[in-house]
Amino acid sequence: MVKPAADERISGISEILEGIFTDAKPLLAFSSCYELLVAVILSAQCTDDQVNLVTPALFEKWPTPAALAAAPIAEIETTIRSTGFFRIKARSISGSARMLVDRFGSRVPDTIDQLVTLPGVGRKTANLVVSACFGKPGIIVDTHVSRVCARLGFSVDRDPGDIERILAAALPPDRWTAASHALNRLGKRVCTARKPDCPGCPVGPRCPSLGRTGETDRAWLKPPRQTRKASGPEA
Ligand code: SF4
Repeated sequence: MVKPAADERISGISEILEGIFTDAKPLLAFSSCYELLVAVILSAQCTDDQVNLVTPALFEKWPTPAALAAAPIAEIETTIRSTGFFRIKARSISGSARMLVDRFGSRVPDTIDQLVTLPGVGRKTANLVVSACFGKPGIIVDTHVSRVCARLGFSVDRDPGDIERILAAALPPDRWTAASHALNRLGKRVCTARKPDCPGCPVGPRCPSLGRTGETDRAWLKPPRQTRKASGPEA
């Protein structure tokens, strides 16, 4: 089947980025699926570097889902305080740990449908876990990917659900993970929120937002629609 022109364009731009940003893995430090799950929940509205400063102490105190499930909430809050939204996140990781123990035999489930039943876990987290832990295709739409996809004209707004569907339609599953990590790196290193480096951008000639900055580009400032779970932020 011949792909529509929009899909061809997305695939072509993503291919360029996949060839440049080849580190298709999370920037969060982890040594197990349990640790990755907790780290991703903590990374909402927080930098990966800050999460990586907090998690060694967290996992030393509570190295398993059972240990974390039994931990006092106040102590969890104190340990993760510097990641922001610490009360919500403490409840999320405690509740997720309890659910892992009670429903999943203390193991992290390997399907998106099961993962999103855990407190604090949305599709971004679930896609990251299935791809990084289980080698399955995952489209990880975080705040950087949302912003970059809107600027590149892949989507009309920054809604993560829409962007996931658009990328899934345009790319074969075996490129989903690499493409979303590459879009993330472009957003973190080049197409930053406040000061995109358009002259140095590897896909600048293909970008409809090239050189459009600040007040003149309202689309850039348009926030994503609210798709967060009631249990906490995810971005
Ligand atoms: S050309 Fe500018 S706005 Fe477009 S993707 Fe590159 S850095 Fe972002």
